[in-house]
Amino acid sequence: MYKGTLIRSGGNAKTIKGDKFGQYETAIMYLAPAEQSLMGNVCPMAKQAGCEKACLFKAGRAGMFNSIIQARIAKTQRYFRDRAAFMAELVKDIERFRNYCIRKGVEPAVRLNGTSDIQWEIGHPCERKFVSGVHKFASIFEAFPDVQFYDYTKVYKRAYRQLPSNYSLTLSYSEANPTYAAAVIKTACETGMNMAVVYRSKAVRDNMLYSGDAFGDASNGVVSTTRIIRPVVVDGDETDMRFTDPRGVIVGLYTKGPAKKDTTGFVID
Ligand code: SF4
Repeated sequence: MYKGTLIRSGGNAKTIKGDKFGQYETAIMYLAPAEQSLMGNVCPMAKQAGCEKACLFKAGRAGMFNSIIQARIAKTQRYFRDRAAFMAELVKDIERFRNYCIRKGVEPAVRLNGTSDIQWEIGHPCERKFVSGVHKFASIFEAFPDVQFYDYTKVYKRAYRQLPSNYSLTLSYSEANPTYAAAVIKTACETGMNMAVVYRSKAVRDNMLYSGDAFGDASNGVVSTTRIIRPVVVDGDETDMRFTDPRGVIVGLYTKGPAKKDTTGFVID
């Protein structure tokens, strides 16, 4: 387990599962989602996607341990107060995590948007110190080419960008807002980027696995207006390492805990 000031590994059941594949260890950064830090918005599509309420509710549950939520808010406030200082802290943290992974004999994977949706590929330059001196980089991905980064995103326009080869993005689907749902599907079709879909239960999700239709079967009338044909739905719960998924699939997840009762449209029946 690695515990830094911004990222940490070992605290998430799914990444531990992923780590069991032996090759990678994942460290995740958890910020205060949406506008919870009261200093800015780290989730620009949260309102359109309709995910903010459910996410804050979840964050509220973490808030049962008030220290956790306060730490996330403090980190997010540091991000808004002084971006350069925040990036310097992040570089230091990833450097330490990378060294930890080298010592452990595993490859480092980092998920920066555990509970945020920041566009790290643009507007986030950083510096990294080497024996030869300080080098400037356009992004954290360029600064650490031997670290695998990955995230889920609701900011679908990111899918049209030329992303760094060590940054893997998966679109996050929601039917809470039909306009948003249609835009994500269009993006997935146009770019081939994978799309994560959260199903109501394991049974519903498993029914979709490796079937020909991620949005219901036309023969029983359960065809969503947002139906998209993707030949393969893969089990997204087996591991969190989305960068190992084949391209052009639906990543099928199922709800756990209070999200089972979600009625916003984020969870698909
Ligand atoms: S974009 Fe992601 S992190 Fe942000 S509010 Fe929505 S679900 Fe939560």
